[in-house]
Amino acid sequence: MHRLLSLLLLLFPLSIFSQEITLNRVEPPFWWTGFKNTSLQLLVHGNNISSTNVSVNYPGFVLKKVNKVENPNYLFLDLSVGNSAQPGIATILFKQGNKVVGKYLYELKARKKGSASRASFSSHDVIYLVMPDRFSNGDTANDNLPGMVEQVDRTNKDGRHGGDLKGIMDHLDYVQDLGITALWINPLQENNMSKYSYHGYSITDYYKIDPRFGSNEDYLKLSDAVHKRGMKLIKDMVFNHCGSNHWWMQDLPSRDWVNQWPEFTRTNYRAGTFTDPYASQADSNMFVRGWFDITMPDLNQANPYVKNYLIQNSIWWVEYAGLDGIRQDTHPYPFKEMMAEWGKRLQEEYPNFNVVGECWLNYPASVAYWQQGAKNKDGYNSWLPTVFDFPLYDALGKAFSEPEGWNTGIVRLYEILAQDFSYPDPNNIVVFADNHDVNRFLDSQKDDVRKLKMAMAYILTTRGIPEIYYGTEILMTTGADKSGDGNKRRDFPGGWSSDSQNAFTAQGRTNAENDIHNYIRKLVRWRDASEVIHTGKFRHFIPADGVYVYFRYNEKSTVMVVMNNNEESKTIETKRYNEFLKKFKSGVEIISGNSLNDLSKLTIPAKSVIIIELK
Ligand code: CA
Repeated sequence: MHRLLSLLLLLFPLSIFSQEITLNRVEPPFWWTGFKNTSLQLLVHGNNISSTNVSVNYPGFVLKKVNKVENPNYLFLDLSVGNSAQPGIATILFKQGNKVVGKYLYELKARKKGSASRASFSSHDVIYLVMPDRFSNGDTANDNLPGMVEQVDRTNKDGRHGGDLKGIMDHLDYVQDLGITALWINPLQENNMSKYSYHGYSITDYYKIDPRFGSNEDYLKLSDAVHKRGMKLIKDMVFNHCGSNHWWMQDLPSRDWVNQWPEFTRTNYRAGTFTDPYASQADSNMFVRGWFDITMPDLNQANPYVKNYLIQNSIWWVEYAGLDGIRQDTHPYPFKEMMAEWGKRLQEEYPNFNVVGECWLNYPASVAYWQQGAKNKDGYNSWLPTVFDFPLYDALGKAFSEPEGWNTGIVRLYEILAQDFSYPDPNNIVVFADNHDVNRFLDSQKDDVRKLKMAMAYILTTRGIPEIYYGTEILMTTGADKSGDGNKRRDFPGGWSSDSQNAFTAQGRTNAENDIHNYIRKLVRWRDASEVIHTGKFRHFIPADGVYVYFRYNEKSTVMVVMNNNEESKTIETKRYNEFLKKFKSGVEIISGNSLNDLSKLTIPAKSVIIIELK
């Protein structure tokens, strides 16, 4: 990606320039013509670079302002990429007096046709979440690389295991066969950290895919391959913090580039301080300015250069890799005004673009605050289209394992959805049973597969956008010690050539694994083809005797879902559901394929869900 720069340094060895001046980086490394917002701010880093005079001579690409900051090794160049600017290569000259001391060939690329009007992920999709280090090692040659401090060690649950983009590429058939239509991959940018570099949330270079996953070009190839299959690619982004080995941590542009404290100060992780009308200033301040971890410096998005850097970086990836969506990490932790500005800017350039923010809060009202268009008392509009349904995740974990009661058991699902009035757009919420940050769903269910099936049937038929965490379809658990992030992110069996099992194939899976795999595959593929589940209305009935009934319906079709949370089979009279059932005489149960010719009574096996397409 810094090819032009490297080439230039080769052509003009630094020795011919003034001793004091170097040109190390220009970011974004290239840009495009034809954006609605014509402004571009370049971060320029190099020894004493601020002592130079900068000029750009290119039609329509105009240098508006040169900004200096505390550190003389930086310049921030405000440029305009006007409507008249044609794709091509502009020369940015850095001079002392009449002497050229640095030169950067800045490419303005043409945007792909249809770039602005791209579609994005939606309730039509089923998302599959992959932790790239733990899915498949497609290229062992990139496992250990010079310059990358952490080496592969599969015996360490918190170490790098060697998975990569090639591994994902190699198993797109598997993912697509499951019916998946969108891939969310945990962050892929360089994490050159000495420990825990595998998870990707300690970025050390925002413009570069970690070479142990592959190159930027490999990411493009993956994007193309995903798109050729009619699938979508969602990129995980992290604005709140970087990794402590990020290159700029050695030479910060200004002291306020990151939020600094007299001593290490951890965030209180209470995202609710943002919405809490009674929150103290001390708590709010610590939430937003405290560091997520010792190795994760907290970026100060209130600094306008940091803000522009992050916004441009996200647009750069969308445009470069043809992204279909973004998942934003720790969404409430950065300064929220900046996050709103980011969301607005994205929508300005890509009006149909979807972004899901990780707003990890336990109450629907708190999560709803963050969804775009919420009527918040403080007037805040997040410009964030989508949120994760953490309250529903929490309810799912409990609903099938508790005794039925007024507030316990299956009624939890009913009560959470009953609070959908809080959300501006309840159908644009990501629903999930687990993800990379929590114990796997089966762990909370004492490995009872019936309950996993219930959860999968639920997330695949309720409102919103379902997300399935890799390995859930083959009964992956956190393992024997049931703790630690590393165990939540175990290797997919068969992803490594030395694995004794290959769960990517039916032959390689156990009977139990094939049973759940087939169950999920059948439901996902049925959902893919069921518009009524994507966009149909939702209506439910108060659970009675541990049985919860809801309908999805539109003009053309109606689907009835019946969940039996009892330890015994239940036969129910259906008179109570006549407002839907009176129009129908029969139905087909999706999982068994059985025809039902008498809808007056229904029998649902213990701890299971039936899904009936009504005829
Ligand atoms: Ca590898």
